[in-house]
Amino acid sequence: MRTLHKVLVANRGEIALRVMRTCRAMGIATVAVYSDADADAPFVRFADEAVRIGPPPARESYLVINALLDAARKTGADAIHPGYGFLSENAAFAEAVTDAHLVFIGPPAHVIAKLGSKQQAKRIAQAAHVPTVPGYEGDDQSQAALLAAAKSIGYPLLVKASAGGGGKGMRVVRGEGELAESLERARGEAKSAFGDDTLLLERYIDRPRHIEIQILGDTHRNVVHLWERECSIQRRHQKVVEEAPSVALDAQKRAAMGKAAVELGVAVGYIGAGTVEFIADQQGNFYFLEVNTRLQVEHPVTELTTGLDLVREQIRIARGEHLGYTEAPPQKGAAIEVRLCAEDPEKDYLPTTGTLHAVDIPPTIRADVGIVAGTEIGIHYDSMLGKLISYAPTRREAAQVLKTALDHTWLPGLVTNREHLARILAHPAFLSGELDTHFLEHHAGELAARQPGLDQLRVAAVALVVHGIAARRPAQPLAPPGWRNVPVADQQLVYTHGEDRELAVGYRPTADGTGVAISIGGKVTTVTRFGVDGDTVWFVADDGHRRTARVCVRGAKAWVLSEGQMLALVEQPRFPELGARHVAGGLVAPMPGKVVKVLVGEGQEVAQGAPLVVLEAMKMEHTVRAPAAGTVRALHVAVGEQVDADRLLAVVTA
Ligand code: ADP
Ligand code: ADP
Ligand code: MG
Repeated sequence: MRTLHKVLVANRGEIALRVMRTCRAMGIATVAVYSDADADAPFVRFADEAVRIGPPPARESYLVINALLDAARKTGADAIHPGYGFLSENAAFAEAVTDAHLVFIGPPAHVIAKLGSKQQAKRIAQAAHVPTVPGYEGDDQSQAALLAAAKSIGYPLLVKASAGGGGKGMRVVRGEGELAESLERARGEAKSAFGDDTLLLERYIDRPRHIEIQILGDTHRNVVHLWERECSIQRRHQKVVEEAPSVALDAQKRAAMGKAAVELGVAVGYIGAGTVEFIADQQGNFYFLEVNTRLQVEHPVTELTTGLDLVREQIRIARGEHLGYTEAPPQKGAAIEVRLCAEDPEKDYLPTTGTLHAVDIPPTIRADVGIVAGTEIGIHYDSMLGKLISYAPTRREAAQVLKTALDHTWLPGLVTNREHLARILAHPAFLSGELDTHFLEHHAGELAARQPGLDQLRVAAVALVVHGIAARRPAQPLAPPGWRNVPVADQQLVYTHGEDRELAVGYRPTADGTGVAISIGGKVTTVTRFGVDGDTVWFVADDGHRRTARVCVRGAKAWVLSEGQMLALVEQPRFPELGARHVAGGLVAPMPGKVVKVLVGEGQEVAQGAPLVVLEAMKMEHTVRAPAAGTVRALHVAVGEQVDADRLLAVVTA
């Protein structure tokens, strides 16, 4: 048994934070490593210490083994947690860590090496009598051997890179005619992406479900499983939604899969946390796919349904402790996780970049994220911003809680898959558990984003108007809205939404000065009361309907979140209407009122912002100020005078 005092996390983003939180809870000090792109990232700020390891590209920072070991030496860390991705399944890294007399929080290098190759792993599974997908995993990689194997497997089949991962290095072959070319391309891709061109052939299972088993092994040969996770909702063979338990399993099948995973773990002498992945066909047969020798992205659904903290278990195992249980703790309730990504599901899930101007996630769910307001999402790393996870007594309730939380998740400034995830969770097929790995393709039509309706645009426009008025009058939240100092009939705003939709918004104070009449697309909405609390805007229409929206404005760009849908609008430059009373440099009364002060005289030079005239209306004063430095050319009012809205008060020009 050894004590760990300080853990270096060789990763970034949400998983680095996730690991460090548990370390802190266990009294263990934390060291972050960071590239220049992450110098101010939340995980760096959270850590007790942080060490710069290089420029943004992962190949020059997070993947540089020596830089990581140097950072550990420099800070006196006694263990390294690799997170997932990056070097987490790299046997050479695990070995280098151990050679440096540090504890690697993960399986021993030889276990990683054995299981890192899908070819080897399948053979190990077969030896342990775990069913594998029928296929070819032979050493003879000659064209003749592969062609012959393909013939006996039949079509469609899957060509896989033995060293592949993350959904990469896989090709579906529909018929013999495509085979030769597919093999050649797969070899090339595998060589360049993974440095190993060994290929595997597998029968392509029709509409499978992805179900995996979490295992833990301690250093005393005790291997247990922690039940399953279903991860059938995928894009490009990468998981998007994960849950526990799986609706596809009954108690008997669940026990059989758990047993198979444990047997495999025992056969390889598994130590640490790992995941045995299976696919299940429509008949309910399950087949081994691969083992991921690390913590998995979707580990939180297991944590929520078993009550265990998997990072804590990893650390306990690394300290040499006995797990202390030989049976899985019972599964309780239902947990669902979604991967929140900087990507555009409407554009083939292409990654997006940008700055998050705000981050607010409802506290009803667990949020494992590595972002805060101001985080810039660049091109260097994985597009996953983090995971949102719900937990409830039933699957239906977990889905509803997560869907609602997504609706209220506020991430202005960046295109994400947030709304797409919410639509998945509300889809009838999802709710009834009819899942397979082609779910997203099959339901693409229903899951596509809808154009916002006019009502939606209207709410956004009202929210923006109200927000704009409140932002300009922070000291006088109750000031009659719509005040203005330029001589135009109505305030006019034009927003564009998307590429071609234009939204013309006009607004003016209501006759009694207590509300705002907002006209959008010819329809007038009268807002009788409104207010702003931070970036949340509330307003009450004349029918008494109170609504709220969130608003973020950055220059001409605006984001409005209302009823789950975020609209990104761009304000067009304003061209004030040149009315009859328009005078260059003219300042008009923004509201009807009484002139209580005139602070300048004709011919006087004034600085920008200098108070000129003070009006009083509704027991409130409003100061009309010089919009720019200049000379007062004319003064059209005197103290005590009653003026109408839009009355020309003064003229100031340079
Ligand atoms: P798999 O999909 O291989 O079964 P996971 O579901 O655990 O395994 O996903 C691992 C993937 O997570 C990696 O392949 C990578 O794309 C992504 N990833 C790795 N590191 C990070 C990180 N720090 N933040 C976000 N995503 C990451
Ligand atoms: P990776 O290492 O990229 O995670 P896996 O072997 O785990 O590769 O497969 C990833 C995904 O690809 C699976 O979850 C499944 O959707 C699909 N897949 C893999 N093998 C098959 C197969 N034989 N038939 C159908 N789909 C498969
Ligand atoms: Mg996999």
